[in-house]
Amino acid sequence: MPAIDFKIIKKDRGCAARSGSLTTPHGTIDTPVFMPVGTQATVKAMTPEEMREIRAQIILANTYHLYIRPGHELVARLGGLHEFMHWDGPILTDSGGFQVFSLGELRKISEEGVRFQSHLDGSSHFISPERAIAIQEALGGDIIMCFDECPPYPAEYDYVRRSAELTGRWARRCKEAKRRDDQALFGIVQGGMYRDLRERSAQELCALEFDGYALGGLSVGEEKRLMYEVMEYCAPLLPEDKPRYVMGIGAPEDLIEGINSGVDMFDCVMPTRNARNGMLFTTTGRINIKNAGYAEDRSPIDEECACYVCKNYSRAYLRHLYRAGEILASRLNTWHNLHYYLSLMTGARKAIAEDRFTQFRREFYAKKQSLGDED
Ligand SMILES: [Zn+2]
Repeated sequence: MPAIDFKIIKKDRGCAARSGSLTTPHGTIDTPVFMPVGTQATVKAMTPEEMREIRAQIILANTYHLYIRPGHELVARLGGLHEFMHWDGPILTDSGGFQVFSLGELRKISEEGVRFQSHLDGSSHFISPERAIAIQEALGGDIIMCFDECPPYPAEYDYVRRSAELTGRWARRCKEAKRRDDQALFGIVQGGMYRDLRERSAQELCALEFDGYALGGLSVGEEKRLMYEVMEYCAPLLPEDKPRYVMGIGAPEDLIEGINSGVDMFDCVMPTRNARNGMLFTTTGRINIKNAGYAEDRSPIDEECACYVCKNYSRAYLRHLYRAGEILASRLNTWHNLHYYLSLMTGARKAIAEDRFTQFRREFYAKKQSLGDED
């Protein structure tokens, strides 16, 4: 029995968008879904009860960070991630690949795996595909990811080709290393911005028959146009009946474009990280709550938002909290931004159900442009 069950509920007649339901050992997720990021086994500033209240369906945790601190074995001894962090809903863990490769000078790649130094204390570590799976099995997420190499952008064709081939060989090793049958394993398609390499990588991974497929190596500094192009030609290369996940994106418009191409799952630190910096998402564009113009503004962050923050607090108060360095600023800003992302996904699912995702997408851009983004 596979650990997850994915069903497509509706395909929009006007585009490639689809809605589905993904059943995991810890609950069923409606797709397309946005997965808030809980890097250190916590979505910064939010309790699991609050995550429930804003209808978060699944949380992502970062393997690299939890491996470094407090350690995957400790998490396993304390009952696994669900029990440790008091979240009984679905969890996805990444493989740690992206973080390890972001260490730059601190890491060395070989066929066997990657040797790297901890960003915390400089201690030396080695992660192989087998080890990445063992760590994720100890953490106990519902969905785990293959260990992949994420090439930088821009990168030479030959480098990206060799890197994607390595990712393919590592994917096979990950699949062979997997022991737990209550976790789903997703393969990660690489190949940078080179179409033929993406096609080859997708073909190779599909042959290994994973429970789901991700596109990695996007949002690494490329232009948005290029990112959208890669999503558009890659999504149809992946099996129709398996969940498709684009890792690490993105801004609300990136999610809209991904859904339009037939992607089902997304994750990004943008709503949470930006919230802590005072940048808030609204239906008419992004606002910067620090701006002097909000000093006496009695209106909510977003007139159209039904969240707890918009129901109860003014822009003026939120600006004051931010400027005063109050903890509540991070909490309320994060609450609103996550609510914004999650309701955008709810709206998208509803639009797909009614065959009007194309219209939904058009209206999203029209509204956003009515005000525009602040710096
Ligand atoms: Zn709100």
